[in-house]
Formats: sequence, structure tokens, C-alpha cells
Amino acid sequence: QWHDEQSFQFIVSFHHVCLDGWSLAAVLTEIFQDYAALQSGKEQGILPPRATYRDFVALEKRALAEEQTRRYWSGLLADASLQTLPRWPRVFCTGGHEQKRGPEIILDKKIVDGLKAVGRLAGVPLKSVLLAAHQRVMSLLYGQTDVTSGLLCNGRPEDVDGEKVIGLFLNTLPFRTQLPGGSWLELVKQTFAAEQKMAAHRRFPLSEIHKLNGGRAVFEAAFDFVHFHVYNNLQGSEGLDLREGCYFEANDLTSFTTFMLDAGGARLELHIDYDPNVICARQIEEMSAYYINTLGAMALNPQGRYEEFSPLAETEAERMLVRWNQTAADYPRSQCIHELFEAKAKETPSAPAVTDGEVTWRYAELNERADRVARRLTALQIGPDALVAICVDRSADMLAGLLGILKAGAAYVPMDPAYPKERLAFMLEDSKAGVILTQRKLAGTLPKTNARTVCIDAQDEGLAISGGRAPCSQDLAYVIYTSGSTGKPKGVAVTHQAVVNLLVSAGERIGFTAADTLLGVTTLSFDIAGLELFLPLISGGHLTLAKQETTSDGPRLAQLIESSGATVMQATPTTWRLLVESGWEGKEDLRILCGGEALSRSLADELLPRAAALWNFYGPTETTIWSTAWKVTKDEPISIGHPLANTQLYILDGKLAPVPVGATGELHIGGDGLARGYLGRPQLTAEKFIPNPFRKDPKARLYKTGDWARFLPDGRVECLGRIDQQVKIRGFRIELGEIETVLRQHPVIANAVVTARESESSGKRLVGYVVSKNGAPSLLELREFVRSRLPVYMVPAQFVILPEFPLTPNGKIDARRLPAPEETAAKVNNYVAPRDEHERALAEIFQEVLDLKKVSVEDDVFALGADSLSATRAFARINRRFGIDLPLRAIFEQRTVAGLANLARTAKPETARRPAITQRRSRVVTRGTVGLTSA
Ligand code: AMP
Ligand code: MG
Repeated sequence: QWHDEQSFQFIVSFHHVCLDGWSLAAVLTEIFQDYAALQSGKEQGILPPRATYRDFVALEKRALAEEQTRRYWSGLLADASLQTLPRWPRVFCTGGHEQKRGPEIILDKKIVDGLKAVGRLAGVPLKSVLLAAHQRVMSLLYGQTDVTSGLLCNGRPEDVDGEKVIGLFLNTLPFRTQLPGGSWLELVKQTFAAEQKMAAHRRFPLSEIHKLNGGRAVFEAAFDFVHFHVYNNLQGSEGLDLREGCYFEANDLTSFTTFMLDAGGARLELHIDYDPNVICARQIEEMSAYYINTLGAMALNPQGRYEEFSPLAETEAERMLVRWNQTAADYPRSQCIHELFEAKAKETPSAPAVTDGEVTWRYAELNERADRVARRLTALQIGPDALVAICVDRSADMLAGLLGILKAGAAYVPMDPAYPKERLAFMLEDSKAGVILTQRKLAGTLPKTNARTVCIDAQDEGLAISGGRAPCSQDLAYVIYTSGSTGKPKGVAVTHQAVVNLLVSAGERIGFTAADTLLGVTTLSFDIAGLELFLPLISGGHLTLAKQETTSDGPRLAQLIESSGATVMQATPTTWRLLVESGWEGKEDLRILCGGEALSRSLADELLPRAAALWNFYGPTETTIWSTAWKVTKDEPISIGHPLANTQLYILDGKLAPVPVGATGELHIGGDGLARGYLGRPQLTAEKFIPNPFRKDPKARLYKTGDWARFLPDGRVECLGRIDQQVKIRGFRIELGEIETVLRQHPVIANAVVTARESESSGKRLVGYVVSKNGAPSLLELREFVRSRLPVYMVPAQFVILPEFPLTPNGKIDARRLPAPEETAAKVNNYVAPRDEHERALAEIFQEVLDLKKVSVEDDVFALGADSLSATRAFARINRRFGIDLPLRAIFEQRTVAGLANLARTAKPETARRPAITQRRSRVVTRGTVGLTSA
């Protein structure tokens, strides 16, 4: 009973850490002395030390009151956010309740001597040398150059007898340094200087720092340097003979790195205590290796630059850079897409190639029609690397057109007929396409340009004349436009070879054969359509095309999957979710290809039991359709898997150095899938397609994806979101900056910010925030303004007009403080409350699916942000709620709660509910917001 329970508790709660070594020594000495005194029968009292714990508390109180100290800490916290160590998925960890200790490592004598020499050279204690190494290791693990760690500081009073006071004086404080690059020596000096600066404020309790930080933790990993040993010290006490000791240390940190120097100062030990619920034993082993490597580098070459030294173990680097990238595989490198198709047409001329509605063309017929297109193009002097715009409905004709363009040696530029004229005109001008291949019914709607118009469904215009050189696999196959952050879309130019590599590799992964039927649902403007159209055709398989309007109508699409006998279908998560929500029950022999956007665990769990296999594909347009694939399993974390054939993945920091397994970096992609670059944009191309530092070949390049990613310990890759302002809405790639640029062109708009908001019920939607110059534009007008300039998927679902934007202290727009649109929606629309039970129920349903607080019964639900997915969701709920069976088209005709309530009131209750797949649905009228989904 050496202390009372209360004082102990007081200490613990105050500091989050238990007794320090001095206190333990003092406590034990005192116990021993008490005991000795009792034993000897001498009732002499022990003189209490002159200093007491109260003195220390007074020092702390003074620190609390000091304005300078408070300012120091607020300044340090101002823009810091909690940095976390990489989390490996739990399957790789053992877990457990108690903190664990990693391997205890005794550092090599030579290194210890070297580190001491570095300290002498820099004029700083050894502790600062070790702390500098620790900050470097943390910088590697956090993938950042601004590093905040916990640092154990001793606040024991310096007064006379201060060392005799029993109690806890340790304070673990945030220690923040910058590691922008430089020599080890500089880093050590800077670290020491930062320590010195902090020393004056070290008695400000951590709990107060948490308060300053809004109750949030500031670090999860800490550092301590112990330059004596508790036992050694006790051993030295007079009259004390310590035979055995048993003590424990514990804290609530995720990892805690301790360096211990023995009393003699010769033996330096390192160990890391960690929380096994969060960190895996293997991770700690690797971290220990980073320390050893870092300390070795410092000791050997203090003048070396620390940012150029990779603390990764050679084996770890080899695994990431080489082993996981060994993807070399054969494929017909020198052949073009259409040549592989022609080979199949020769092999199986009468096999069905493409089905479009009631029509099926066999291989020979499709080939013949494509030849006809090619002849007409060649007659117009269209040859290798020329660009031909193609603006047609999705149809078998479209396929003949694409193959014809390729056969002529040209590359196609997809132009969606639903895009605004202005955008089509830009694409024509930017690509300098000499010919537009279109249909008679669309020819009149195209923008006026110098390009020649060829109607695919008109008579032959010319005879074949012999073209120039034959196309080769290095020629372009297509140019696809994607959103550009500075306001204009950019064309990604892709070669035949890149496409063929992808088709062969993806085909092998999923085991695609001539026996397969693929249901194609994706719009041609999205590069993944290339896989849907060409994979079946180069494999001798069968392609069925879904009509545009079917792809945004869940029940009809479900029906088509069944009736087409599809064995493979590729779509974005949005389309798969649409199917699930429409009651699709699945198809036993269907392989699902999902990609273009993050696949959620919940959607994966819905899809797995509905199909034979589920694949998650990942890839930017710039690396040709897909670059990685993963066959989704039930229990493992969702990942994007491994690179496809002849593709390399690197996860790098800002200096292009590989980051540790589990740590976050930017995904870089190399290999045969890389696009030639951005059409007519050499500078942008050079910025995004950089030389590959890991290859000897000077021509080898890497594409900077702008995606955060990390390696899992088995080499799979996890995608962790965007570095920049790019978002995906229903699978479409959008640069928010492009929409903002358009909004700023509106005469009364002074400034605009577009954000993507996500909610459980309504998914991800765009919100446009505008500040007007003079007079407020009507919301309808704003929407029309954007709609006439951008594709419909880029039109914000909601607009909010603000008197001014909230700003950050340094004058930038503070996106986090923009109001949620639902807070303003009720104000700007004239709110009409529900007038009966039907309207009330319907309004509630729309509030739910649109994630709005209030929906006026007279509001156009599309103006409030509805799209085909939310409409489908709302419909499933309406029909369930009233026991009726309204067709989806009703919502596009009756666009208000009031209108739909009228329908619901008069609808006959459904008698026998049939399974969703066999339900007959009438055609969806394409109008306005329909056709919003990508696929
Ligand atoms: P796109 O050029 O339209 O193919 O868009 C490429 C971007 O979409 C990537 O850089 C990712 O941000 C995102 N993306 C594509 N597929 C996936 C996926 N399977 N998981 C997560 N993000 C994806
Ligand atoms: Mg892609």
C-alpha cells in the first residue's frame, strides 16, 4: 500500500500514460526503506522530500495560463490533421486485446557510434538524431513531408529534490516537423531546433491540446528515448537488492517507438509497441527495418540527401517494383483490331456476330458491311491516323461503321448524338476530324463544320480507290474525349496495339470464348464500350446490343439479360445497382464485369449470389479501358486486384519513390496499354505521361492516374479515391472545374463552385453554388444554360445561389462550409405542402430518395435532382407502398408529386405480382433527363 488509490487515478487520467522510470524507482526505493525501517524496529520517520508533486501541478497551471504557450499549440494544430499509419486489412492481422511488443532490436555498434558522431557533428544530443530518423520513417509511412508524432517529454521540476518527488511528469506532446528534402545533418539540426522551441511549452497538458483540437486526437504514433534503465538505476540504490522485476507499460497509442540506451551508453535497443487490433506483426517487422535502414544511412553518410534514400527493405522494393509487375505475356502485337475480327470472319463466317433488336448479322455479313464503309471512306482519301467522327445511335450499323473506319486505317472519335451542339462542334474542331459518319436522321442536327458528312444508311457514294499504306498496330484506333479541368475536354489518343493487348488480356482473365454472348450496354463515348464491342468479335463470340433507352430502365434491362442469353455483361456500379433495385434476380451463368467507379462491398454482396462471377475492373481512359482486374470474393476486402498483361503498377510518393506496402501513394501505370497521349496537347501529355524511372528503356513512360492507392501485402491494389477534383457520377468522369468554367460564363454569375455530394439514399450528385453579380438568375435558367453547353450528366442536380462564398482564413473558398442544398431548397422553391395521404406518402418517398428535407408537391422532381436511378428507386417504393404497378415512364410524364398522386389514386391495385424479370414494361419515352445513366 504505497499510495492511495485516488492519487494514482488522478495521475493516470491527467496524462494518459503511466508511471515514468524515475517514479517507479522512487516508489520502490521508498517501499524498501519503509520495509527496512519496520524490520529494524526503528520507528524513525523518513524525511519527505522538499519538493512535492504540487510544485509540478503549479508549473502545469502556469503553463495553462500562459498566452504564448497556448498560441504556440494552437498555431501548431491550425492546419494539422490526424496522420494514421497504414492499416492492413484485418485478414493479415492476428488481433488481440493487449498491446504487443515488436521485435527487440539491438543496433549494431558501428551504427551507434556513427549516430553519436552525427550528433557531435550537428552539436545535438543523440536523442535528436534518433528523433529525426523517426520523423523520416513516419514521413514514409504517412506519405507526407509534414509530419506530426507524439513525443514523450519530461516535465519533472528542476528544483532541489525534484528528482525525489513521486508522481508522473511525462507529457506526450505533438511534435511537428517538415521534411521537404535536404541532408541528414540538416534534418537532425532542424529536429533539435524544433525540440528546443517546444521545450518552453512542454508542460501544457496533452488533454488541453486535445481540447484545442476540438476533442480530436493529434497523433497515433509516438516516440520515446530512454537513456537509462529502470533496473540499472534500482540496482544502484544503496541497500537494495533487486532479484526479480515484473512491470508493464501500456498506452492507448497505435504505435510507440522506444529507443533505449543502457546506463553505460554503449547498447542501443529499439522496439515498437503496437495495438494488434490495428497493426499487424508483419507491419511492425517492416517498420523496424525502416528504422534500421534509416539509421544506417544517417550513420554512414550524414551529408546524403534523406529524400533520395528509400528506407524500404530491398526485398520489399523488389516485390513491389519487379515481382508484382511481372506481367509479360504474348499477344498479337502487330495486328489491328479489325484484322483479328477479319480472321474470325474467315474462320466462322456464318456464326452470329451481332444482334440488334430483331436483326442478327453473321460474321460474314458484318464484315461485308464494314468493308463497304471502309471503301467509301478510302474514296474520301481517309487513311492511317486520320480521324473520323462517328455520331450514330447504338446499333449494328454503328458497329459496321466503327469496323469500317478501322479498316480504312482511320481512328474513330465517338460523338454522342445527345450531347449539346456546342460540345460536338468543339470536338470536331479540336480533333480536326475530316469526316463525320452519321445517320440520315441525325445529319441535320449536327453542327455546321468543314467536315464531310457520310451517312452510314445512305447509298454508296464512291468506288474504292487504292489507299495509301496499310494500317499498322501503332496507328490510332480511337480518340475519346474526357472532361478537362481547365474548362475544355481533352482527346485521349489510343492505338490498336493498346486495345488488342487489353482485349486479349481481359478475355483471358474472364475466360471469354466463342461460346459466349456479351450484352453491350455502354455508350460509345465511354472507352469501356470498346471491350463490349470488340472482345466478342475478336473471339468469335456473339454480341447483343441493348438499345440506349433500355439501359436506363432496370426492369427492361433485366428482361433483356434473360432473353439475350447473355453470359457476360459489363457495366458501371450504377447500372448494376439499378438492376438490383429493380428486382433483378440474377442469372446463373452470367459473368459480371463491373468498373469505372468504386465497387462498394454492399453492391458486391448483392451481385455475388446473382451471377457466376463478379469482376472489379479498374482503369483510366489514358491506359486503355482497364489496367487491373480482380475476381471479387465474399470475405476479402474489395480491391482492384492485379495488373493486366503487359501492365505495371507503381504506387509512388511525390518524389516518385515507392511507398511501403499498405501506405497510400499515387497510382502510376506503365506498359503496353498507355495511350499515345492527349491529342494536340503535348504539354499536358508530358505532364501526365512521365518517363518511367524503373525501366532502362528511355521511351518507357508512366501515366499519373491521380488516384490514391495502396498495395495490400499480397500485391493486390486498393483504390482510395482521387487526389484532384475529378469525380465520377454514374460512371462518367467529370472535372468539376469544367462545369465551374461554364457557369462563370453566364453573364450574371460572378463566381461558381461545383461539388459532388454523396448520401446513402441518393448516391452522388452534383451541386452548383453560384454567387451572382447583379440580380439572381432563375434556377431553371441556370440549368438550361449548363445543359446547352455540357452533356446532361455534367448538369448539377441542384443549384444554390449564395450572397457570397465562405472563405478560409487565407482567402480561398472553403468548400467544407458550403451549405447543404437541402437547407436552401425549401426556401427557393415555392413550397406547397401535401394535401392528402397520397401526396404525403409520395413526398416522403422523394424526400428520401433525393435526400431532401422538403419536397413541394408542385416541384418538378427532375429539377430537384432526380435521375433515372433515383426515379427507379422511387418507383419501386411507390408501387410497394400503394400495391400498384405504375410503369417507370409515368414519372417522366408526371414530373410532380401532385401529378403522380393523381395516377396513384386511380391506379388499379396489382393483382398477382410476377417476378420482375418477366414483367412487361412499356417503352420509356426519351425526354429531358432520361438516358442519364452512363450505360
Ligand atoms: P475513366 O477514364 O472514365 O475510365 O475514369 C478513370 C477513373 O475512374 C480512375 O482514375 C478512377 O478514379 C475511377 N475508377 C475506374 N474504375 C474504378 C474501380 N474499379 N474502382 C475505383 N475507381 C475506379
Ligand atoms: Mg476506364
